[in-house]
Amino acid sequence: MVFSAAPEKFRAELAATANAIAAPGKGILAADESTGTIGKRFGPIGVENVEENRRAYRELLFTAGADLPKYISGVILFEETLYQKTASGKPFAELLREQGIQVGIKVDKGTVELAGTDGETTTQGLDGMNERCQKYYAAGARFAKWRCVLKIGKGCPSKLAVIENANVLARYASICQNNGLVPIVEPEILMDGDHDLETAMVATEEVLATVYKALHDHNIYLEGTLLKPNMVCPGQDCQKTYTPADIADATVTVLSRTVPPAVPGVTFLSGGQSEEAATVHLHEINKVNRPRPWSLTFSYGRALQATVIKTWAGKPENVAAAQSALMIRARANSEACLGKYAGSAAHLGGESLYVKDYKY
Ligand code: 13P
Repeated sequence: MVFSAAPEKFRAELAATANAIAAPGKGILAADESTGTIGKRFGPIGVENVEENRRAYRELLFTAGADLPKYISGVILFEETLYQKTASGKPFAELLREQGIQVGIKVDKGTVELAGTDGETTTQGLDGMNERCQKYYAAGARFAKWRCVLKIGKGCPSKLAVIENANVLARYASICQNNGLVPIVEPEILMDGDHDLETAMVATEEVLATVYKALHDHNIYLEGTLLKPNMVCPGQDCQKTYTPADIADATVTVLSRTVPPAVPGVTFLSGGQSEEAATVHLHEINKVNRPRPWSLTFSYGRALQATVIKTWAGKPENVAAAQSALMIRARANSEACLGKYAGSAAHLGGESLYVKDYKY
């Protein structure tokens, strides 16, 4: 008897969804900022954090241009957005699906502290998630995201945090697959700290190895999953300097030691890198001369939207310019995941997007 979290009726669809998202030259737009987080984006541009402004901003993103689906294969939504519509009344989920873009949904409910640790966390949201997944599938969602957060430094990540977060990611993945949603498994190690690249490699290898053991233990169908890891980067305050090629080599080395070839795609988060750095690193990653059997692409939030939000500034007359900024960045990342980025977007987005102890 073969046990699998993915029922027979969903297996082919799960693999097809994961493969469609990880298609060559395509990646994910993470637009699933919670209401609190989008408020932090709107604050600096003076836009009030009310439902209509959140809706208008997301409409700007999802109608950015006819070429959007050439670069973007999936969009992650916050629950509110899944049920919103364009100004002319078309549900966002339908608008995206018509463009051939897979609809994703953030299903976690944020982090909580693990008592007895040095401020480490786990992620909550499993209660009632089965029913929520059924509703999300019915509303057009075909993949999901759940973000776990780990940090480096002073005994962290602790064994407890590594095991707990791996296990909760596996439980989440199991519930998703049981309901036809491809789980994006996201164990994010923050860039906070002064650790060097080697330290980040050791921590990422430990975390990913533990995650894949847990996914195996929970009978997860790996062909119908995606991994969303951090790139292996030195800490934000590290004094040593590394080239993009060093970061790329460290990242692919760690992935090659831990991620089974059955996984169709690795969709990196940007994690506070500048828009341009996230693109350059992805490009270098796709040039590394090591085994890399999975597609290596992007699932960026800040690194796709920072210039867009600034350009928009909440003004209808800036919508077209903001949309063209998104298209420039999306195309650059598409080129990067083919190892063909030659700097066409370098004039936009050099600014660091790092936020200490980032909450999504
Ligand atoms: P960033 O690319 O801004 O790190 O966010 C991606 C994401 O979805 C984190 O969960």
